[in-house]
Amino acid sequence: MIVNKNDFHSFLKKVNNGLGNINEVIVPYRARSDDENPSFHFQRFEENKILFLDFFRTIDPIKILFYLFREKVYPIKNKNLKRVIVGVKACDLKALHLLDKAMLQSGFVDPAYKQWRDNSLIISSDCDYLHETCSCNLVNGHPFPENGFDLNLSVIGGNYFIQIGSERSQEFVELMKKEITVANSTVSDIEIVKANREKVFNRLIEKNNNLTHSGDFSEIRKVEHKSWEEVSEACIGCGACTNICPSCYCLILNDESTDKDFIKVRSYDSCQWYGYARVAGGGTPRPKMTERFRNRYLCKFDYMYKNFGEFGCTGCGRCTEACAAKIDFRQVVKNVSSVAQEVN
Ligand code: SF4
Ligand code: SF4
Ligand code: SF4
Repeated sequence: MIVNKNDFHSFLKKVNNGLGNINEVIVPYRARSDDENPSFHFQRFEENKILFLDFFRTIDPIKILFYLFREKVYPIKNKNLKRVIVGVKACDLKALHLLDKAMLQSGFVDPAYKQWRDNSLIISSDCDYLHETCSCNLVNGHPFPENGFDLNLSVIGGNYFIQIGSERSQEFVELMKKEITVANSTVSDIEIVKANREKVFNRLIEKNNNLTHSGDFSEIRKVEHKSWEEVSEACIGCGACTNICPSCYCLILNDESTDKDFIKVRSYDSCQWYGYARVAGGGTPRPKMTERFRNRYLCKFDYMYKNFGEFGCTGCGRCTEACAAKIDFRQVVKNVSSVAQEVN
């Protein structure tokens, strides 16, 4: 399907105002319009703001819309909310896929997460521009969505090429057809999208050329402590990398019950914090920063790989962007994986 960009934005405006019984539309907006290096935040749709759907991922990870920083998980409040999230990138779709495995498919269903997932229609979009830290290609990803979306948008000049990714998007598509002109796409449209995707992917490969690793982390546990000490030297244990990571989901469950109600509240934890997994009496499994630092990399490339059959990193680059110590996640992965190869 092909729709005109302006028409689509007017349609979103109507949807945001309640069309189709949808309560809200969330889109990426520029965080600071005067900044030479653009950055983006997810925000509620506003009529007069410019939409940038073909850029790269937002500063904030997609999990803030599904797995909130702090959220009451018992008793669960029925949110009765139908929302559409537009401009989600391939790396964040991968993160949702990983969170689904942890929250919905590991034998326990997190009811709050499930409710957000059920109530949200996801309209993803291709990346035509890259952030300095983008590295999805280093973890088997691409700068365009392949699955996990309800609809996907690819820019072709003044139009969007729309791909359908789920059955549940059908209702939304029918609604759109009633409101704006929707044309059939041609073979030439598909060719343009393919060529554009290839061009951006090649740019990404070239950009990360010096950071390429072997992709084999089977021996990462054998990397000696000394190597971890070297790469973690600058780390201050702030936990920014895990809190901003779209696929990190470690949590603290607090009992906030009152005389009348039994209440459980979930909030983010971080394996980079000294108190992580501390037990009564004060014992903590990883008292040294180097051990905690190592744990994050093992979690992404060993534990999650064994549990889920794929890397726990989406290559979004947010941890590198957020790190106060300027530690480049890609560089550490490259260094550690080459040491692991030698051990092997
Ligand atoms: S990491 Fe890949 S998918 Fe994510 S924003 Fe960058 S190019 Fe797009
Ligand atoms: S953001 Fe950087 S300094 Fe902070 S815990 Fe992570 S690696 Fe260490
Ligand atoms: S580890 Fe870093 S690059 Fe990988 S998903 Fe998390 S924030 Fe993104």
